[in-house]
This record gives sequence, structure tokens and C-alpha cells, in this order.
Amino acid sequence: MKINAMKEKYFIKTYGCQMNVYDSHRMAMMLEDMGYEKTDKQADADFVLFNTCHIREKAAEKLFSDLGRALLIKNERSERGLDTVIGVAGCVVQAEDEQIFKRAPYVDFALGPLTYHRLPEILKKIKQKKQSGILDTDFPCESKFDFLPENKATGGCSFLAVQEGCNNFCTYCVVPYTRGVEYSRPVKDVIDEAKNLIATGTLEINLLGQNVNSYHGEDEKGVERNLAYLLNKMAELDGLKRLRYTTSYPADVDDDLIKCHHDIDILMPYLHLPVQSGSNKILKLMNRRHSAETYLEKIAKLREANPNLRFSSDFIVGFPFETDEDFEKTLDLVDKVKYIQAFSFKYSRRPGTPAAEMDGQVPEKIKKERLDILQAKLFDLQEKFNKSCIGQSFDVLFEQKGRHKGQLIGRTPYMQNVHVHAADDMMGKILKVKISDATTNSLQGEVI
Ligand code: SF4
Repeated sequence: MKINAMKEKYFIKTYGCQMNVYDSHRMAMMLEDMGYEKTDKQADADFVLFNTCHIREKAAEKLFSDLGRALLIKNERSERGLDTVIGVAGCVVQAEDEQIFKRAPYVDFALGPLTYHRLPEILKKIKQKKQSGILDTDFPCESKFDFLPENKATGGCSFLAVQEGCNNFCTYCVVPYTRGVEYSRPVKDVIDEAKNLIATGTLEINLLGQNVNSYHGEDEKGVERNLAYLLNKMAELDGLKRLRYTTSYPADVDDDLIKCHHDIDILMPYLHLPVQSGSNKILKLMNRRHSAETYLEKIAKLREANPNLRFSSDFIVGFPFETDEDFEKTLDLVDKVKYIQAFSFKYSRRPGTPAAEMDGQVPEKIKKERLDILQAKLFDLQEKFNKSCIGQSFDVLFEQKGRHKGQLIGRTPYMQNVHVHAADDMMGKILKVKISDATTNSLQGEVI
């Protein structure tokens, strides 16, 4: 369906997690099917979309400040006789609801993360001036995935959502409230989407889910299958060279999944397994279904399945009631696992979550001191691992151009960024690279 014979332009700003990156990509595909063309300049866009995330602190404030800037651009375009449609999607919509229009009445529509398949219909209504100020935060019966156009690759590496929502209700997290309860896509739908991605140039697929390893999609006979089954099916696909999955919940790492790390050679030797804290008291308050001990047992089994496997994680410091002793336990766990990358944050209250109402909130100053100590340790481990790669060769998948002329950036199997000098037509390919130098954040190398 073409809305306009002239190519109109869209601009999408994506905040937050890989699931949001995937959602933005699917919305971009829908817009391109409608005849829109992508632009990286907001001022040139006839349609501006903010795809929001509610995980980080002050997410709503960041959105409203971006919306304020969007209004200035809209007014300036209007003086030139150009219309601009402004939309908001994602988890902030689910959390803020009507507030979006109260604070930014010039927003044309706001869509929750489960209803963005309705974007073409909503845009059409707005452009025909039939309606504005549309709010859609349904938890619909239908699956949005059944209404999206075929997914296509835009590079050598693609995300593929297989599961959405979460039933874990960690006490600090808004996801179960914004993305709803767990839903797993049928096996066939995932495999068909993977085939399309491979046919259009993907070499690496990262299966996504808020709690990806609780995947329980049905096969064609209606039998529920787990993530291990899906990974094995994916590994049978011709042309797929690399496979990953994220984000995993430690308590749901089962023996079938551990076995995949031994059996599937295209499954990359890198696993993001968020632990959040090393203190069992804090893990309990967080309502996590693992202890430090059961987490370390899983790590040991995974290492046994594939000794080359390395780990990354998420940490929250300064959760309510966290003492120095609890924090020491987190540092102790980091020493044991020796993560090669990690994301660490100070705890911050999310309205509507149980932890936001807990007593025992930790003073900001202490949170900051603990975060500095933890990050120093994590960066040190990351740098040590990166330096240990000097002199080794890795398969690198090239994904983007570097800042300097003739420079490309790719990723090793361990998700490290590698900078090399290589021709532009190497983008989207996997090449062997010998590592010549390393810093905390990246590697330098030469194509062999
Ligand atoms: S597992 Fe916990 S942190 Fe992760 S999405 Fe579910 S509720 Fe949020």
C-alpha cells in the first residue's frame, strides 16, 4: 500500500534494549512497505517516531525532552509548509498512558509495545485527518507478529524475537507490566523468519526474548518446544554461520540448553546471564529464582559443556537493604565468574514496582561508591580478556563503517568490537582477523 506517490521520509529514534532495536526495525519495514524512505535527519522527516524504553532512570523525562525538540522542528517545518506526524511507541507509552498527551498534546499517536502492527492503519487515519491523539496500549488477543510484513536483513547480523513478556516479576522491573505475560512464537514462524533473514544476507541471528530461555513455542503438531529444540532447528538452516540468544534467566537454564553449548558449533561461545547480585538476601528481595550458589553451578555446567564459553552479566548495586557485606558478595561472585563484559547500574526506583516502595533505600552516595568499585573490577576483567586476545585470530563479522576512512568495525564471537582497515565491500562478511592491539572497549586487528 502506498500512501503517497512522493517518497515521504521517516525518522526513528530507538532507546533501550535489543528488543526495542528489533521492534524499530520491524516498524521501519512496515513504513518502507507503505512507501516511506528512511532519513537520519529528524528535520527532513515527515514522520518522527520515538521507540521508548522504561528500564533506565528518567526514561519518561528523556522522552519529553526529545518531544519538546520535535515540536520545535515540527513548527519550523510547518513554516515551510511541511506537515510532520509525531508518534511514540514502546514501554514508556504503556507506563505513562494518557500522561503523554497531557504533557505533549502535539503527539499524534502513542502505541504500546504489543500493538505496533497497527501502525499503518493509525498513520492512515492521521494523514486523512480522521483522528489524532490516538492511544493504543492494548494487550491484544492477536499476536502482532501475525500482522507484520516479512522481515528482511539489513546487514550480516539480525535480531529475531522469539519470545516476549515475562512472568518473573523481579521486584525492580517494569517489563511484566509493560510487555505483559510471556508469549512464545510458534517454531515454524521463527524458522520462516530466519530463512527470510538468511536469504536477504544475514549470517548471524540473535534470538531475542525478555526471558528467552523460557521459550515454549508450539511446533506444527501443537507440541510445546523449548529453546534447545529451537536452537537445534536453527542450526540446521543452510547459510547460517552464527547463532546467539539473549536475554536468559539463570533459573531457566536447563540441561537441554546447556547441551546445546556442547553440540551446536554455530552457537557462539558467549552468554549473557544476568545475576544482578551475589548476595542471596538481595536476590530474594529482588524475587530472583536463583541463589549465588545455583547460579555458579549453572556457570560450571556451561563451562563443562564448552570450555571456551565466556560470560557477561547485569548488576544492580544499592538495591534496598544492601549492606557492605552483601556488596562484597557481589564482588566475590565477579571474581569467581571472571566476566568478560558486563552492564552495571545503581538501583533506581521504578514507579509501580514493589522495590520502589521498600524501606531500606540505600543513599545515593553509597550507591555511587559501590558502583565505582564494581565497575573498576569489571573493566579490569574486560581489559585483561581483551589483552589476552592479542596475537590470536578470530572470525569477525563486519557490521559497520569506522570513524576513519577505510576502517570497518566487526564483532568477534565474544562480542568484542574489532577495528580493521578493510574495503567497504567486506561489510556483512565474516573474515579471519589477527588481533594486534586491545583496550578495555575494543580490539585492533588485521585481516589475514
Ligand atoms: S526476568 Fe526480571 S528483570 Fe528480566 S524482564 Fe523479567 S521481571 Fe524484568
